[in-house]
Amino acid sequence: MENITDKIQANHPLASLTTFKIGGSAEYFFELTNKEDVSEIFAWAKDKKLNITILGGGSNVLINDQGVKGLVVLMKNEKIKVSGKRLEVEAGVTLNNALSLALSNNLSGLEWSKGIPRATIGGAIRGNAEAFVNSMSDIVETVLVYDRSKNIFENYSNKMCDFSYRQSIFKKNLDLLIWSAVFKMTEKEKKEIEEKAINSLNFRIEKYPQLPSAGSVFMNLDPKIVEKSNKKLYDEILCHKIGRLGTISVGLVIDMLGLKGKTIGGAKISLEHANFIVNTGNATADDVAQLISLIKTTARDKFGIALHEEIQYIGFI
Ligand SMILES: Cc1cc2nc3c(=O)[nH]c(=O)nc-3n(C[C@H](O)[C@H](O)[C@H](O)COP(=O)(O)OP(=O)(O)OC[C@H]3O[C@@H](n4cnc5c(N)ncnc54)[C@H](O)[C@@H]3O)c2cc1C
Repeated sequence: MENITDKIQANHPLASLTTFKIGGSAEYFFELTNKEDVSEIFAWAKDKKLNITILGGGSNVLINDQGVKGLVVLMKNEKIKVSGKRLEVEAGVTLNNALSLALSNNLSGLEWSKGIPRATIGGAIRGNAEAFVNSMSDIVETVLVYDRSKNIFENYSNKMCDFSYRQSIFKKNLDLLIWSAVFKMTEKEKKEIEEKAINSLNFRIEKYPQLPSAGSVFMNLDPKIVEKSNKKLYDEILCHKIGRLGTISVGLVIDMLGLKGKTIGGAKISLEHANFIVNTGNATADDVAQLISLIKTTARDKFGIALHEEIQYIGFI
């Protein structure tokens, strides 16, 4: 029988596993497919005192050019089934595959995600992914979680996930690995689901840059904090720009800073959407990090506004 350590690879390249197409190699790399391997692989890393990094679809991460020390675990558990009006989905399933199965069973709840590249259920639950006023928190009934600190699997209810805008318990407690989830869907006409999904896809094709990126770099802004930071700017302009989710678009603020199109090395602030940084071909993580730093400094110096990253840094100390 194959030992788990036989499946661990050393010095494994990671750039192609991300939508940015940027980053060095993992010191150790393991593709996690079976629940039976979970406890063993984490024990192996603990024994060797290795840092553990979880990777889903790599659509919201910036991986260091120098690579990642320790063990990178790629979520490749991809079982999915329909049970009445519920979807039972493992964390490595992509949002697009979950949507396809839902659609073929006339189940609505994931149409908003059509066209988000590579993103997995695990990454989407962790960041409470959302679009068009729909979010993961609307459909999550329970999440099966592996708690590294206790070495046990536990079921979390929606309430225990502590969801809010781009937040969940899984961002706060890094010992928690999302293994699978049950989604409560709504039965609808196939045509209606299909139309909504196509509209989401078309919106992304039209409005988002088509070059490699990691989606929105920064989280949108809380109007109350903007008002406190810069009352004049808020009263004159930004109070009229509060979106449907009750936030102010960071893209708009970056645009107002005059930074659209700004380039460092191969990284560029997208002309289509200022909250996206794109890899024009040969961008390094360092180029992207410098551009992020420039945006944050300019927003602070010109507007007195603090921006916070939505993308997750991997391999940076
Ligand atoms: C073109 C484009 C458009 C996008 N549009 C949207 C959008 O409309 N709305 C939106 O919300 N997002 C959007 N995103 C961002 C991104 O797709 C989402 O945040 C997505 O949910 C990330 O999932 P992932 O599997 O790629 O996670 P990754 O990028 O692989 O990981 C993100 C974080 O989650 C952690 N993680 C991953 N899997 C697990 C797990 N099983 N357990 C615990 N932690 C885990 C990782 O360690 C990392 O910290 C977009 C991205 C791109 C490139």
